[in-house]
Amino acid sequence: MMRQYELVDRVRRYNPQTDEATLNRAYVYAMKAHGAQVRASGDPYFSHPLEVAAILTDMKLDDATIVAAVLHDTIEDTDSTREEIDRLFGADIGRLVDGLTKLKKLDLVSKRAVQAENFRKLLLAVAEDVRVLVVKLADRLHNMRTLDYVPQDKRTRIAEETLDIYAPLAGRMGMQSIRDELEDLAFRHLMPEAYAMIAARLADLRDKNGRIIATIESELAEELAAREITATVEGRQKQPYSVWHKMERKSIAFEQLSDIFGFRVVVPTVEDCYRVVGVVHTKWAVVPGRFKDYISTPKQNDYQSIHTTVVGPGRQRVELQVRTEEMHEIARFGIAAHALYKDHRVADRGTLTTESRAYQWLRRTINLLAEGDTPEEFLEHTKLELFHDQVFCFTPKGRLIALPRGATPIDFAYAVHTDVGNSAVGAKINGRHAPLVSQLQNGDEVEIACAEAQVPPAVWETVVITGKARSAIRRATRDARRAQYAGLGRQIVTRAFERASKPYSDEKLKSALPRLARTSIDDVLAAVGRGEMFSGDVVKAVYPEFMEERKASPPRPRGEAGWFGLKKAASLVFKVPGGEENPRSIPIRGLDGDLPVRFAPNGGAVPGDRIVGILTPGEGITIYPIQSPDLTQFDEEPDRWLDVRWDIEDGHRALFPARLALTAINEPGTLGMIATVIGDHGANIDNVVIRPLSADFRELVLDVEVYDLKHLTSIISHLRARPVVSKVERVNG
Ligand code: MN
Repeated sequence: MMRQYELVDRVRRYNPQTDEATLNRAYVYAMKAHGAQVRASGDPYFSHPLEVAAILTDMKLDDATIVAAVLHDTIEDTDSTREEIDRLFGADIGRLVDGLTKLKKLDLVSKRAVQAENFRKLLLAVAEDVRVLVVKLADRLHNMRTLDYVPQDKRTRIAEETLDIYAPLAGRMGMQSIRDELEDLAFRHLMPEAYAMIAARLADLRDKNGRIIATIESELAEELAAREITATVEGRQKQPYSVWHKMERKSIAFEQLSDIFGFRVVVPTVEDCYRVVGVVHTKWAVVPGRFKDYISTPKQNDYQSIHTTVVGPGRQRVELQVRTEEMHEIARFGIAAHALYKDHRVADRGTLTTESRAYQWLRRTINLLAEGDTPEEFLEHTKLELFHDQVFCFTPKGRLIALPRGATPIDFAYAVHTDVGNSAVGAKINGRHAPLVSQLQNGDEVEIACAEAQVPPAVWETVVITGKARSAIRRATRDARRAQYAGLGRQIVTRAFERASKPYSDEKLKSALPRLARTSIDDVLAAVGRGEMFSGDVVKAVYPEFMEERKASPPRPRGEAGWFGLKKAASLVFKVPGGEENPRSIPIRGLDGDLPVRFAPNGGAVPGDRIVGILTPGEGITIYPIQSPDLTQFDEEPDRWLDVRWDIEDGHRALFPARLALTAINEPGTLGMIATVIGDHGANIDNVVIRPLSADFRELVLDVEVYDLKHLTSIISHLRARPVVSKVERVNG
């Protein structure tokens, strides 16, 4: 087990300003906390956090990360608490340890189906502090290294999870060396036979080609030395897992793999990199199409190197990677290396803020996740495809919000909080104003502008794609509509009490609630507004002794746009063959029976139209087809709008008003022909206005009475079929 001074030494080697006292305190604290606990291997448990910390010292991480690694299992596995850690080591370290505790709990969830969710939570943790994830990966690496001691079933689960989640994550964080090792360890446990087979063949190959490798290595070293280029040349061999993965992915045999061997040349400067490439290309034949300059054009995860493949001795293809020390660190440690460089810059000022640079890097990385042109190295891992249908966006404070692909800022707002969604009036995407219905992209930073007392427009329901947003909008519009009905109901109820000459008060209505089988005043008012409850019944519920005397409505003349009372309406509108009056009233649901009703004065409405009722206080209700442009004048008065529906059966014989505008050739017989078409359809012409358009054309405005929309449409199409008719349109206002 690593000694206390050894840990401090390891850190001091790369960070002379390390806070030794804190490191020592963490060592002692964790050792005491874990006490006599032992691992499956029989080792003292405390050896595990120490090894994790050691892995992180290889990556030269800052003090807070190392201390967090030493403490990472204390809250979960011992009597330690977050408060105690905060008090002893400060809130920064407390937060890191707390994050690791949360991640550890996620490990308990092992079903494949929930791993996507798991992973997203991991990302959320990253958004808080990337160091949590770096420690987590080191933790997993040490657990994988010691997996042999764990029981078989648990071992398989851990290895699968490593391959599905942690290795790709390490890859995405640019931590290539950790990814390689995790993959190889998992592969060895999951498929021991395949692993053994490939490892044996690799060893075999190494033996056979050993001489060639040695030749290349020494020739290269010689050439570079002759040019006074200081370089480290190391031969490298593909890992068993990546060989196996490539064989699987490309369905090829081991023998067909061409790039099992390679060399890595690490030099001090970028200039040296290009000089090395010059030497290599002069000495050996270049394989066309394999030269890639990731130094001038880094990969999106900041990877830099020059790749080239040459034909070496024995016509053996050899891949070379040429890079500087710094590039090498980034290639191996990725995000951890970034944090390191950031540290060096800020260390002088005595503060440790590793987050901002790493955070930007992470944001770019997340960007890569779901995009179509993801670099192929990211696509190798099938689990990533789980995230192709998601976008990851940020709040201005850096909170990560995962949404389905195609989500809008409205979805985002509801994901942040229902209140934010309900009061959203605008959005900024990456600092620029954008429509609330825009499609969000990976990595977008979204800021929502809110206004108080907003009701989300009902149309949003068709725009959003998350269930949460949709149900919240539905709820909010339903509440708003209910308030609207309650407002209307109050008017109707107040009028009913006036008519009955009885005083109204909310208190009186409240005491009558049980009689109405409702639980609140609003309930009653909304029911009346909606037309589900008769206002007279409310009066009777409050004044049970009240006997309603129905007074006949005063007869009104039937003018062109005449109001008609309810009973009158029945006799006027419902012309039934045989002269009988339809005993029902207006065939529309949602009306208060006591209010006069009429159809829209400029065009009417027919069954089949979607309709809306507009209340004119003191006058009555006008039924408009929803497409009527006249409705815009009531836009600002939502409490005048009534939700109404037709209540009429197919095959009825009642007639309803509609208006048509025709353009027809001005010749004898035109009007007669039009009248015949309409008459043949069994419809009635109420009124005709003829206006000259030109010498040859006339415009006719016809008020007709039809059974329903289908009837009207049929008349329109028959009129259009006549050669003298050039245009027929329905008119609404
Ligand atoms: Mn651990």
